[in-house]
Amino acid sequence: MPMGSYTKSLIIVVKGVVQGVGFRPFVYTTAKAYHLCGNVSNTGEGLLIHLEGSADAIEQFCIILRDNPPKLARIEHIDIREQESKNFVGFEILDSTDKTKTTSIPPDVAMCDECVSEMNNSHDRRYGYYLINCTQCGPRYSIIETLPYDRSSTSMKIFTMCTECQEEYNNPMNRRYHAQPISCHACGPVLALMDKEANPIAQGNRVISKAAELLKNGSILAIKGIGGFHLMCDASNESAVTTLRMRKKRPKKPLAVMFSHIDELCEYLLPNEQEVQLLTSKERPIVLVQKGDRSLAHNIAPDIDTIGAMIAYAPLHHLLFKYFPSPLIATSANRSDEPIIRNAKELRERLGDVVDFIVDFDRDIVNTVDDSIVQMIQNRCMTLRMGRGYAPFSLVHTGFTPLKILAVGGQQKNTISLAYEDKMILSPHIGDLHTIEAMEYFQRSVEMFKRFYDFQPDVIVCDKHPTYATVQWAKDQGKRLIQVQHHYAHALACMAEFGLAEKVLAFCFDGTGYGDDGTIWGGEVFIADPYDYQRIGYIKPFRLLGGEKAIKEPKRVALALLFEVYTLVEVSTLKLPLLDHFKSDELTLHHKAWEKRINAPLCSSMGRMFEAMASFCDILHDNGYEGEAGRRLEELYDPASDEIFEFAMENGVIDFSTMIQKIVLLAQKKEFIRIATGFINTLVAIIEEFSDNYCVLSIVLSGGVFQNKTFLTLCVTRLEEKGRRVYFQEKTPINDGGIALGQLYYAIHNEKSLLS
Ligand code: ZN
Ligand code: ZN
Ligand code: FE
Repeated sequence: MPMGSYTKSLIIVVKGVVQGVGFRPFVYTTAKAYHLCGNVSNTGEGLLIHLEGSADAIEQFCIILRDNPPKLARIEHIDIREQESKNFVGFEILDSTDKTKTTSIPPDVAMCDECVSEMNNSHDRRYGYYLINCTQCGPRYSIIETLPYDRSSTSMKIFTMCTECQEEYNNPMNRRYHAQPISCHACGPVLALMDKEANPIAQGNRVISKAAELLKNGSILAIKGIGGFHLMCDASNESAVTTLRMRKKRPKKPLAVMFSHIDELCEYLLPNEQEVQLLTSKERPIVLVQKGDRSLAHNIAPDIDTIGAMIAYAPLHHLLFKYFPSPLIATSANRSDEPIIRNAKELRERLGDVVDFIVDFDRDIVNTVDDSIVQMIQNRCMTLRMGRGYAPFSLVHTGFTPLKILAVGGQQKNTISLAYEDKMILSPHIGDLHTIEAMEYFQRSVEMFKRFYDFQPDVIVCDKHPTYATVQWAKDQGKRLIQVQHHYAHALACMAEFGLAEKVLAFCFDGTGYGDDGTIWGGEVFIADPYDYQRIGYIKPFRLLGGEKAIKEPKRVALALLFEVYTLVEVSTLKLPLLDHFKSDELTLHHKAWEKRINAPLCSSMGRMFEAMASFCDILHDNGYEGEAGRRLEELYDPASDEIFEFAMENGVIDFSTMIQKIVLLAQKKEFIRIATGFINTLVAIIEEFSDNYCVLSIVLSGGVFQNKTFLTLCVTRLEEKGRRVYFQEKTPINDGGIALGQLYYAIHNEKSLLS
């Protein structure tokens, strides 16, 4: 007998994202091609394959399984064991039986090319079908109620398949074999257009041409997508955009734009090669892309040179663009910073005064999920908001956690995270938790996670901030509680993503976080590992005039910095543009508050420093949106200049007094480019100085301030030139969206010592 032709029998378990991605048909066809017998099934453990046949054929099968699995699958682990021959006859696909829940939840996937061409083919039975999908595309996470992923556990369960759909669903050789959301014109959800009072206007495919007509007239439509509704209007219509901004009470924050196709996008914007790849990927995130010569309505992203752009990803979008052949504003349907809205009823209640018309269909969104937002920095893709296409996001760590751990994140850009065994799972963006609605959404997300992962937490991890809603919530659960300092959690989040367990030098720069000494931190330098940290540097604390109010008013931060350096009399003689933004008696009042420390908490926040600089540069004094100061300073930054300011550092305390004096001189001469450039260069120099003192340690850069592309690029370039290893988060949010992951990483490493 030739070598390898003996019969072998194997049990193969494939773990990771293996359900709802066409994995079983793939196994079936591959096994058939190699004349192998056995069966394949979905279990709670993963995909289970029994395989019998010649050793050669089995080897070939395993190579294909490893190297060429279905496009959408994400294999985390393959376990292969030999077993005694079971004398299988033929190869079968078995139904899911085991109801335990440890496989990963598949994310939503943008419409695939095959579905696009079917939808555009007038001879196809799904011609113009607005919810077309297959095993390679369509909704997943957003429609799943529980695992395993079967139609009966999705919001499609109420739709009975027609005979033709059922046949496709049952046929392993069909592209829609076990495509859970399968449907067609005959059996699927119905599309409806209504006005904001819920009066019906059109149904079925007529909705699309009618909606396009309304958009052309400058109306604002709420259009149901995959994980929520978008507010849409004509992106070339200045007054429609203004109306949307006024109604949504969102004066300046950039709005995302949806393009029909990458070619259309390239007429307006200047994406590089990697950005094109991201834009057209199956995840279809919003990508921040440089503006080009051809312009859209200029109030889309005022005063900055990028636009958050995405390409149509749902069939309904593609159909809409047939009738409306130009770019559309596509911003999440929510009140600013509140959670995204799930259904038309909520939409009317909360956004009734914002929208003119609503396009809806009766496939429920079970789990809302926002569009993801990413940007390219230094050839790496940075996730700014984790959402559709990526979430829930799972990571594997090297240890094993016997307990079930839930981390509840921070207060802004909240996400939650959980750990069991060797897994860490990060939820999609939940949002800012300042309202009751947002807290309800947070709790719904916790419940959803518990259901998905069959999870009752033994330990809950939260921030140290006494008034964070998540901290209150965590304390009320009556479980073992671990609290992790906010900026340490930022550093840990980066360490979690890269699996770092050694000591690192971490720069954690953000807007706000509760410090161990009860002051507000945000410009922190740590030596940290997963067990402990040491604060070796920080910005010399200054008083935040008006507390929370200062966050919205950069001029207050600038004034506070002036008071640190000058007397009131001196300040009032300065010829600074920013001082024109205070009324005559305000300076005295503010100074009194500053002096007596009334509502003027101490802070060491780098985010606030950026805002102060924007005010010194006379570009932003009031009502900025988060991150605006940094982005506006980038616009001023002069890469050809090596302007740098003097700063003092004693025992790691960074004193900006001399820098402020210099900036005042420059501001009086309106030399704003020099201020912006000098400030950013000075921060880079500070980071370099610290890192020179700890040259054996790898460097971690984390916190919202590092979303600033100019600043981060400079830091990474300089440090790497010196041969340093620099880490910043790519797959998980570098802003407060990553806090939950950092908290989790701490608990994973410390649960034993903390709980024994
Ligand atoms: Zn498809
Ligand atoms: Zn059908
Ligand atoms: Fe933070």
